Order: sequence, then structure tokens, then C-alpha cells
Amino acid sequence: MFDVQQIRKDFPMLNGKTMHDQPLIYFDNGATTLKPQVVINKVCDYLTNYSGNAHRGDYDLSHEVDVQYEEARCLVAKFIHASRKEEIVFTSGSTDSLNMIAYGYGKTHLSAGDEILITVAEHASNTLPWFDIAREVGAVVNYIELDAQGRLTLENVKKAVTDQTKIIAIAEVTNVLGFQAPMKEICAYAHERDIIVVADGAQSVPHQVTDVTDTDVDFLAFSGHKMCGPTGVGVLYGKYNLLCETKPTRLGGGSNSRYNSCGVVTLKNPPYKFEAGTPNIEGVVGLGAAVSYLMEVGMDNIHAYEKELRDYCIEKMKALDNIEIYNETSHGAIAFNIKGVFSQDGASLFNTYGIAVRAGQHCAKILDEFLDVSSTLRVSFYFYNTKEEIDKFIEVCKKGDDFLDAFFG
Ligand code: PMP
Repeated sequence: MFDVQQIRKDFPMLNGKTMHDQPLIYFDNGATTLKPQVVINKVCDYLTNYSGNAHRGDYDLSHEVDVQYEEARCLVAKFIHASRKEEIVFTSGSTDSLNMIAYGYGKTHLSAGDEILITVAEHASNTLPWFDIAREVGAVVNYIELDAQGRLTLENVKKAVTDQTKIIAIAEVTNVLGFQAPMKEICAYAHERDIIVVADGAQSVPHQVTDVTDTDVDFLAFSGHKMCGPTGVGVLYGKYNLLCETKPTRLGGGSNSRYNSCGVVTLKNPPYKFEAGTPNIEGVVGLGAAVSYLMEVGMDNIHAYEKELRDYCIEKMKALDNIEIYNETSHGAIAFNIKGVFSQDGASLFNTYGIAVRAGQHCAKILDEFLDVSSTLRVSFYFYNTKEEIDKFIEVCKKGDDFLDAFFG
């Protein structure tokens, strides 16, 4: 049984934290999520009790670090149904992972005239590296058209793919419109044509069951901090054979098994060849604890409950004349504006009632050309949010008109 009140007890920031002298209502989970006590404890435990380095020492303390670090890798592999733990590379987050794919795989596998397909709904982290690589190797970035609502469909993927397409890089769930891509179907279609599929999972992995074996995606990037884990840690998943073909973008201690003064270097096998330097150990063990916690709550439960929250909120927002919603039918974040109110002013209004919402372009700057608005407000729920919080949010939405009166009345 999913008991949100019980779950809320796990999150210190939901028990007493205020903003603007009001109990915090945190609706900016697309940006980052709150942390449960088990994650905080795990990080503190490392820092307090066994803060040695990983993969370097021959003494018991170092061994303890290695066990915990590799245990986290196993947990993440289990969480996304990877076939082996060596397919999990720890990175600093989705941005890092996507850059590692673009520069480590894209750069060495793309040639002049090749094509990378993305959409206008991608986050900057899944756009800018591809622009740069394309420029460098003489490839082109083209766009898969979204349907009228902003959805990525298999049909449009088929229309966009050409003989030159080598990589399709798309968000599994987009961060503003929140639509789910038909990942399994896209992968099946792409693989028939030897096209590699890169999934940006920053907004999907935290909210639903992820099964890379089922979708057959080639690479997947996601961030720990958007799924109850610490900041500064994330994951690059890659099929093992593709990771073997991917060049590390950083070299240094821990990534090589041998080198000599002539510059002959033998790199370790994945994932270690990608993890040069002292890793973010507290981040990694914290992410392991986050993943355990999420599995305990159950990703199916999380997904179903968040859908319930979204449906509830959308129904209430639709009843308000002063609210414009841009993505009524999606499953993720809700992008909207208070009519006549600049989004940043809207966010300030919510702030005065203790409600954290995001305003702006949400790092998806070319999406605004599609939406035909310069910026939006965004609420994004997580499984600790409640209908009561949504009720308070709706009351503030209604005050948007008072806000206008205050300025222009
Ligand atoms: N992709 C998407 C879809 C995102 O929402 C984000 C974070 N807003 C990122 C990538 C980048 O994640 P991070 O900042 O954790 O690297």
C-alpha cells in the first residue's frame, strides 16, 4: 500500500522546513528532488566511518569503500535492468554522461555527412554536445518533428530517418512538456538500420520502471539528484560492447592498467576506463541508497501515484480561466502560465506562499519556438507530494489576477 503520509516522514525537508514563513510545498522536482534520511545517513556514514579512497588501497578500510562502491553499481544495474554491472559508469550527472557519449562515442563514430537526430524539446545537455560534435566532424544535426501536442512519435522518427542517420539522441521523457518517447519501438526501428539510440533519462528514470534490456536502448544518461540521491553523481549506462568502443573523455589514475614512458597506455575495461581520478564516493554510495529506497517504495507505485497527482492538478487547473496549460495530456511536468503574468513574476507569487515552482525556459531554449511563448512556469511532482499541496497551489493560481491588479490596478 502506498502511504504518502508515511513516505513524507522519510524526508526531513518535508517535516518543518518553511519558505516565506509557510510550510514548504516543493513542486520543482524536475530540477532536483528532496533527499530521504536513508540517503543522508548513507552519505554521512561514509564521511564519518570509512572515508578512504576507492580502488586504491590494500588495507581493510579501502576494501570497505570498494565493497560499498561496487555494491552501489550492482544496485543501479538492478534498478535499470542492465545485464551486467560493468555497463554502469558513474559520472557527475546526466550532462556529464551525455557529453561522454557525444565526445567519446559520437566523435569517433561519426564522419562528414552523417546525421544526428534530436528534437526541439531536448534539454541543452542533449543538444549542445551534438551541435559541437557535428561541427567538429562535419556531420549535421537534424530534428525529428514533434506532433501538434509536442509528442515524439515513431511515425515522425520514421519520416526523419535517412540513410545518413547514425545517432538518434532523445529524452525518454522531456523536461518541459513531459511526454514519454516510445523508446522500445524507436530502438527496434533504429537498430534495423544500424542507428544508435541515446536516451536522456534525466526525467524518466526517477519516475518509472526503467528496463534497458526491454527497450534495448544503446546508451542511457541520468542524474542521482533527480531521484533522491546526492548532487554531483549520475550514471552513464551503455551496452558493454559500445562502452568498449567508447573513448574515455578523461584519463588519469584508476583508468589504466599499464603505461610506460613512451606513452603506450593500456586502459582498463569498462566501466573503470571511464572513472579516472578519485570518484565522488559519497555520491555513489548515496545514489545506491537512493536506488534501494526507490525500489522499496516501488517504481510502479511511484508512477501510478504521480499520474494520480497530475490528473488531479490538471483537472483543477483546467477549471481556472486565468491559466494556460501547454501540455495537458502528457505524464510529466506541467508547463503553464498565468495569463498576462510574466513567468518569473508568477514564480515569485508562488514563492510568497511557500510554493517552489520553476520559471523560464528550463534549459530547453529551442522549445519555445515550438510553444510560441518566451517562457513558462513548470510544476513537477514527486511521490512525496500530496493533493492537499495541489489544493494550496490552485488557490494561489487563482490569485494571479490579484497579482495583476496589484501591478496594474
Ligand atoms: N536532461 C534533462 C531532460 C534534464 O531535465 C536535465 C536537468 N534539468 C538534464 C538533462 C541535466 O541534468 P544534470 O543537470 O543533472 O546534469
